Amino acid sequence: MLKLESVSIAYGAIQAVRNVDLEVNPGEVVTIIGANGAGKSTLLKGIAGLEKVVSGRILIDGEDKTGVPPHKRVNLGVALSPEGRGIFPDQTVRDNLLLGAYSRGSRDKTVNDTMEREFERFPRLKERQNQMAGTLSGGEQQMLAIARALMTKPRLLLLDEPSLGLAPLIIAEIFRTIRDLRKSGLTILLVEQMANQALAIADRAYVLETGRVTSQGTGSELLNDSKVRAAYLGNH
Ligand code: ATP
Repeated sequence: MLKLESVSIAYGAIQAVRNVDLEVNPGEVVTIIGANGAGKSTLLKGIAGLEKVVSGRILIDGEDKTGVPPHKRVNLGVALSPEGRGIFPDQTVRDNLLLGAYSRGSRDKTVNDTMEREFERFPRLKERQNQMAGTLSGGEQQMLAIARALMTKPRLLLLDEPSLGLAPLIIAEIFRTIRDLRKSGLTILLVEQMANQALAIADRAYVLETGRVTSQGTGSELLNDSKVRAAYLGNH
C-alpha cells in the first residue's frame, strides 16, 4: 500500500530524514519508534505531503505519488492524525468532524453516516458534540483528532504520537481503539514513544535514529532485541 524508497527530507541545512526505505502492506499495523528529534513526525508529514521530499520516492499502491499535494493524498486514502492533535479549539466537536470530511465535498450525502459511525466508536464525542473542542480533556481531544482523520474514510491512517501527554488509563483506551481499527481492516502507520505498547501491537516496526532506519523487524523481534530494549524500553 505504501512504499518509501530512499526518502530524504530536510529543513534547510538540517537533514531530518535520511534515505529511509519503508513499507506498509494492506492490513498491517507498522510502528516507527525513536527518540525525540529522530525525524518520526517529519517522516509522517512527508508521507501526508505536508513536507517536501528532497530525494527518493513515495509510492502509494505501487504508483509514484512523491509530488502529489496533501489534499490529493487524502483522496488516495491517506489521512494523518497529527502530533499535538491539531484540532480547532474554538469549533465544536461536531464542526471539527465536519471539517475532517471537507475533502469529500458537500455533495457527499454519506458524511453524516460516517459521523454517526465515529460517534459509536467514541461515545464521549457524541455526548460532547456541541462542546467547543478546546474544552475537551486531553484524551478526548486525541480521540477527536483520530475521529477527524477517520472522517476522510482513509485506507491508511498515519497516527503521530497518540499517547502523548495522556494518563495511563487513557493511553490503554487509545491502544484499544487502534486494535479495533486494525480489526476493521484499516492499515495503520503509528509513530510512538511508548515503544513497549507500540511494539506489542505492531506487526512490524522500524527504529529511527537521527533520521535513519537503524533496525527493523516484527514487533516481537524488536521487543526482544537487547539494543532496542536498552535504548527504548528502559531495560536490558
Ligand atoms: P518528537 O518525538 O520530539 O516530535 P520526532 O522524531 O518526531 O521527534 P521531528 O519532529 O521529525 O522528530 O524532528 C526531526 C528533526 O528536524 C529535529 O532535529 C527537529 O529539530 C527538526 N525539525 C522539525 N521540524 C522542523 C522545522 N519546522 N524547522 C526546522 N527544523 C525542524
